[in-house]
Amino acid sequence: MALGRDHDRATLIGCVPAGLLAGFWLGWSLGVLTAAAFAWGGLWLSPDLDTRSRALKRWGPLGWIWRPYRTLIPHRSLFSHGPLIGTGLRLAWMQTVVMVAWFTLSALPGWSYPTPSEALPLVLAWLQKHPDPLLAVLLGLETSVWLHLILDGDPLPAEWPRRWRHRRRR
Ligand SMILES: [Zn+2]
Repeated sequence: MALGRDHDRATLIGCVPAGLLAGFWLGWSLGVLTAAAFAWGGLWLSPDLDTRSRALKRWGPLGWIWRPYRTLIPHRSLFSHGPLIGTGLRLAWMQTVVMVAWFTLSALPGWSYPTPSEALPLVLAWLQKHPDPLLAVLLGLETSVWLHLILDGDPLPAEWPRRWRHRRRR
């Protein structure tokens, strides 16, 4: 299994080919977006947020928002290190935290920015018209997870082979 600094180094190197490949496919500005999402995915939104990791430390004083995630999800389980499901759950958790914070702040007196109910329909309509930036970001986030899994020595989460072994024995 790779150490945190090996993951960091590989992320910073890997974001270049990921950005180039996405650039050929989606155009160069979206390639840059994919490279940035790849780097952010590896350094901040890493599967290792399920344990005390370098990624977790990068969140600084906001690290506590990952406490429930870390408590509920065992390290290297399907739910953090599973392809697609890991990224999906981390994004869903982050979205939940952002929405709770946004709803709370917008309820305070003197709030002069758009509320979630004002802004979300506009954001969704924009994304429906321009899905490519979202695709570029998701591509960067997910491919950085795959690099992480390969470096961990197994592209499958730790509990999968264990389950298969179990099933075969039965
Ligand atoms: Zn890991």
